[in-house]
Amino acid sequence: MNYALKKVAVIGGGAAGFFCAIRLKELAPATEVTIFEQQHKVLAKVAISGGGRCNCTNSFAAIRDLTQAYPRGATLLKRLFKQFSPQDAYTWFEDHGVPLVVQPDECVFPKAQDSQAIIDCFMQQARRHKINIVYGRRIDDPISLLNDFTDVAVTVGGMQHSQLQLPTPLSTPVPSLFTFNIHDDALHQLMGIVTETTITSIPGTKLKADGPLLITHWGMSGPSILKLSSYAARYLAEQNYQAPLSVNWTGETNAEKVRETLVEIMENQSDKRLIDNIHPYDLNARLWQYLLHKIQLDGKRIGDIGKKALNRIVETLTNDQYRIASRCHYKDEFVTCGGVPLDTINKHTLESLTTPHLYFAGEVLDIDGITGGFNFQAAWTTADAVARAITK
Ligand SMILES: Cc1cc2nc3c(=O)[nH]c(=O)nc-3n(C[C@H](O)[C@H](O)[C@H](O)COP(=O)(O)OP(=O)(O)OC[C@H]3O[C@@H](n4cnc5c(N)ncnc54)[C@H](O)[C@@H]3O)c2cc1C
Repeated sequence: MNYALKKVAVIGGGAAGFFCAIRLKELAPATEVTIFEQQHKVLAKVAISGGGRCNCTNSFAAIRDLTQAYPRGATLLKRLFKQFSPQDAYTWFEDHGVPLVVQPDECVFPKAQDSQAIIDCFMQQARRHKINIVYGRRIDDPISLLNDFTDVAVTVGGMQHSQLQLPTPLSTPVPSLFTFNIHDDALHQLMGIVTETTITSIPGTKLKADGPLLITHWGMSGPSILKLSSYAARYLAEQNYQAPLSVNWTGETNAEKVRETLVEIMENQSDKRLIDNIHPYDLNARLWQYLLHKIQLDGKRIGDIGKKALNRIVETLTNDQYRIASRCHYKDEFVTCGGVPLDTINKHTLESLTTPHLYFAGEVLDIDGITGGFNFQAAWTTADAVARAITK
């Protein structure tokens, strides 16, 4: 093998694979780069991502601690962001002809509101840099490619059903970012109702998430639930996706404050008024009715709400109990928790510790984030790190 001329194989034509290939050519134009893609189409997930709009990164303005955004891989990403940060990704896309826009929720999308803008950019760069793309070629043994290539970058994405032979065992891949099936017909009737400020948690654990919650015709979804599924990905897999769920519908963690708020609202109302007609915390009227019905207090007059009844209302508002029956398979956004363990790779170069010249980037690594553009950002940053390491 002539190591003076780098000849790199990239396995997987997804987000991380394309970004790695393009960065390799940008950093060292003489490098020969070949992408092997098992399908007859590349960048398939980019196309469907973000509802077809591709939430390609995040401003990170609302993130105080990276573990909030990345339940797995935060420490490694913190280090790699020094080389290629979310701001660098933002600038890269704009410099390569993809104007971006930051939404009020800090998610970043192409201004065109179309994931095709990212795909066109990558395909154009691939053509410009003469990157070889081999379609319909599945690679099961990346190490064998080292006979023909100086370096191999494995960017095959989540590995739940992969046959790939790797030098070290994987941290078992399990799903993350899914919604919950809950068997409760009365709840299903409320489908479409969004409660903006909730805290969801799994009783008996420290697993907790906050944000808007959407009631669906199968159970619960929305950012609070998706985030909880990410934080609890491994725990829920161990429980076979059957676990208790607590919902705080107020977003207020101090139950005493909730009690005070309720007392204040009730004191300003006539004793004869039905409790059903007050809507604390701007709760949707039908949801409030459902919660009161659950504790058999619907139809009661405010004057009849004694201390015990008030306790029940506070408990329902702050610690409403459900049972997760299973995980929903509808793939709104979905990533893999698990993959190549981070202690089997060099933390700076992402090169295998046991097989020199074998690198990993993207979702194949045991790194995954919550929704909001964090998963693509991990793909860009890790792909850039591999390209830098190979061309150093
Ligand atoms: C519906 C949906 C919406 C999403 N929306 C967003 C979003 O808006 N923002 C966000 O940040 N994240 C989003 N994600 C997550 C994001 O798509 C992934 O994190 C990201 O695509 C990971 O990039 P990757 O290159 O590592 O893997 P992938 O994009 O999965 O690419 C891997 C590629 O490798 C190929 N491959 C696999 N095995 C082999 C093999 N043995 N040989 C050759 N080729 C192989 C695959 O066919 C695929 O093309 C979404 C995910 C889904 C499913």
